Amino acid sequence: MNIVILGPQGSGKGTQAKLLSKKLGLKRIEAGALIRKEAEKDKEIWETINVKGKLIPAEKIFELIKREVETGRNAATSILFDGYPRSIKQYKIFKNWLDETGLKLDAVILLEISEEETVKRLSARRTCEKCGTVYNLITNPPPGEKCKCGGNLVHRQDDKPEAIKKRLMEYKEKTEPVVEEFGKEGILLEIDGERPIDTIFDDIQKELEGKGVI
Ligand SMILES: [Zn+2]
Repeated sequence: MNIVILGPQGSGKGTQAKLLSKKLGLKRIEAGALIRKEAEKDKEIWETINVKGKLIPAEKIFELIKREVETGRNAATSILFDGYPRSIKQYKIFKNWLDETGLKLDAVILLEISEEETVKRLSARRTCEKCGTVYNLITNPPPGEKCKCGGNLVHRQDDKPEAIKKRLMEYKEKTEPVVEEFGKEGILLEIDGERPIDTIFDDIQKELEGKGVI
């Protein structure tokens, strides 16, 4: 079983991906984390993401994903692709490889939240300078002015409205077309992400059952 989960930043995609991989025993491959790890070693990639707010080349992301898929994999391994593929170009490369290896995608889960909600949620994020804990002033407030570890809380540059809007534009332009494609293939599950975590998770499972995936 291979599942993709997509959604704009702040949609709670990471939370649902964790719950789902645990419940269904899926190996979770988080594209964002792989890219961030690579960006630490590669200045050009770092700038593409953090300065230009763009996606890194599709071939490069595929390379990272493929390496991760092949690590410790056996025929029975089921995978949850978290945040990948996010553009038509990424999907074309990925699809070719899936076809070659005889794999297929069973479902694509799309967590939907409005742009307004994305900006609201991300603007409320505060990150601890010391330990990296991420709080949310609305949904997961810190114990006080400081982190529980005593570190200072900062409003990261990429959580400010300007940067968020840039990423949302990129999402609209690049990700929406591939979402449309998944719709045509009949594997898209659209989930309302503006509800409590448990409700969303129940809904995802129900939809997967309905499609005969689980
Ligand atoms: Zn801390």
